[in-house]
This record gives sequence, structure tokens and C-alpha cells, in this order.
Amino acid sequence: MSRYNKVALIGLGLIASSMARAMREHDLAGAISGHARSAQTRQTALDIGLVDTVHETAAQAVQGADLVVLCVPVGAMGAIAAEIAPHLAPDATVTDVGSVKQAVIDAVQPHLPDNVHFVPGHPLAGTEQSGPRSGFATLFVNRWWLLTPQEGADAKAVARLRGFLEGMGANLDEMDAHHHDLVLAVTSHCPHLIAYTMVGVADHMRRVSHSEIIKYSASGFRDFTRIAASDPTMWRDVFLTNKDATLDILGRFTEELFMLQRAIRMEDGDLLHSYFTRTRGIRRSIIEAGQDTDAPDFGRAAKPDTSV
Ligand code: NAP
Repeated sequence: MSRYNKVALIGLGLIASSMARAMREHDLAGAISGHARSAQTRQTALDIGLVDTVHETAAQAVQGADLVVLCVPVGAMGAIAAEIAPHLAPDATVTDVGSVKQAVIDAVQPHLPDNVHFVPGHPLAGTEQSGPRSGFATLFVNRWWLLTPQEGADAKAVARLRGFLEGMGANLDEMDAHHHDLVLAVTSHCPHLIAYTMVGVADHMRRVSHSEIIKYSASGFRDFTRIAASDPTMWRDVFLTNKDATLDILGRFTEELFMLQRAIRMEDGDLLHSYFTRTRGIRRSIIEAGQDTDAPDFGRAAKPDTSV
């Protein structure tokens, strides 16, 4: 487990507030400073004790910090990096939690001075909630946190960050940024787009009333609505910055969908059955890997859902 003397959180929403709570619970930071765009979020973060100090600018928040975590939407990372660059302490580590990695590297790295260590990261944990009140200390427990350090990254800085994130209960892995974006397009980005689409379809239906959709939503649709309630700014940025990988996967998805559509039209029960048998196996391996529960109702009653 590693500890930092001062951690600066830039952006004070779901991920930052969960990190702040986990840092406090496990004594991972000497002090926590924070910055968010709006005065209201900054005040809330202070009121509920997420941070020791809040600052009107990101530049003020990073002063003297040995760890800076960028927790803003992916599209805002570049401007923040440009702002904080002249104010970073020598030898500080800068990381981020953005859901897309290559675009963040392209936007952030050019601004940073040579005497700081940039180690991009992505916790595979979240909920559809946002804002400083939505975080909880156990969000990262037994969840993957992927780091995508670039070639030549300082091994000591990477190891120290790993130890810090493991202190929050996360499982750490390293990956090439492009590969990360492709993997996440399959496991997170496209499923979100499909959920948005399905809820959009239901919204446009005229033969099924709104009240019926809500009343009978437990049979699958409810899970789509949870995902489709995710933050619009965050997800807009994800698709705009992971365009190639998501378009690739969506192309493959459309082909499979047409194939299944044809199987239904041709009443090819064997094809449908063997397809669904294979997908059931994938679900089983996710549960065996400890990344979800097989409790009825996805264990919703027992704990907050962390399946993003
Ligand atoms: P969130 O709850 O919506 O919070 C975003 C925070 O960023 C807010 O405090 C917001 O301030 C601040 N912000 C936005 N634009 C800003 C700007 N230009 N300058 C300064 N502050 C700004 O978001 P989140 O869910 O924590 O997501 C943050 C990052 O984590 C995103 O990059 C996302 O891709 C990544 N991520 C999210 C999840 C998830 O499930 N939510 C999972 C993994 C990774 P105001 O409140 O003042 O607007």
C-alpha cells in the first residue's frame, strides 16, 4: 500500500468522491485538495468533508500535490492539463480516471512538463449516479483499475500509484491504451449505446403505453433504463473520443443482430438455442471471476450496483 502527502482531485463527482472516501477510510493521503467547475459542487465537497481544501481553480488545487487525479469528463482533460501544467510540483504523479485512454493521452501529455510522471488510468467501476454526494468508499473494491503507462514511464511512479489504488481495494492491471479502448468498446461503451437505443425505441413506441413500460419493466428493460440514465456529458465524450473502436464494434454488433433477426424470421430454433447457450456461458464466467453476483435481481437489494 502506498500513501501520498497531498492528493489533488480535479473534478468532484462520483469517481472523485468515491476516491476521497476510500482515501480517508484507508489513510492513503496526508491531505486532499479539490477543484470543481461550479461553486455549488465545491461547497458541497467541503460541507460533506470530502476534501480538506477546495479551490476556485485547478491550478491552485494542484500546488504542492504529489498526486493529481483528473476526474473530469474526457473532453475536459486537455484544457485542465494546460491550466495545471505550470503549477505542478516537480516529481508529482498525474493520473486520470477517464473511460477512454488514447484520447486522454493525446490531450494531456503534450502539456505536461518533463519532471512529472503521467500514468493514465481507468477504474472499471461506477454507477449511473453523478456528483459529489454519489460516491462511496467501497466502489473500487474487487474492481479492475487499468493503467495505460506509456513506453519509458517511470517504474517507481507506476508502482507507487498501483500501491495507492490497491489500498482502495482495486485489482490493478496494465494495458496498451489503444487496446484498452477496444476492450472497453466491447465491454462498456457499446453496451451503453445499445441501452440508450433500447430506451429510445421504447420511448418512440406508440402501441405500448408509457405506463405499461414502467409497470412491466422488471423483465429486462429496467436494466437498460439504469444504464441509459448515466451522465449525458460523460457518455457523449466517450463516444466522440473512442469513435473508431465503437464504430468497429457497432458494425460487428449490427451483423450479429441481422443474423439473429434472420434466424427468428426463418424459425431457426437450433441457431437461436446454441447462440443463447454460448452467451449464458459468458455470464457464468463473469460471475466466477467475481465481477458480478448471481443473486436474484443482481443482488440489488444487498449493495449498490457497480456494474459500469
Ligand atoms: P461526475 O459525477 O459527473 O463529475 C464530474 C465532475 O467534473 C464534477 O465535479 C464537475 O464539476 C467536474 N467538471 C466537469 N467539467 C469540468 C471542467 N471543465 N473543469 C472542472 N471541473 C469540471 O463524473 P464521474 O462519473 O465522476 O466521471 C468523471 C470521469 O470518470 C469521467 O472522465 C468518466 O469517463 C470517468 N469514469 C466514470 C465512471 C462512471 O461510471 N461514472 C466510471 C469510470 C470512469 P461540476 O459539478 O461543478 O459541474
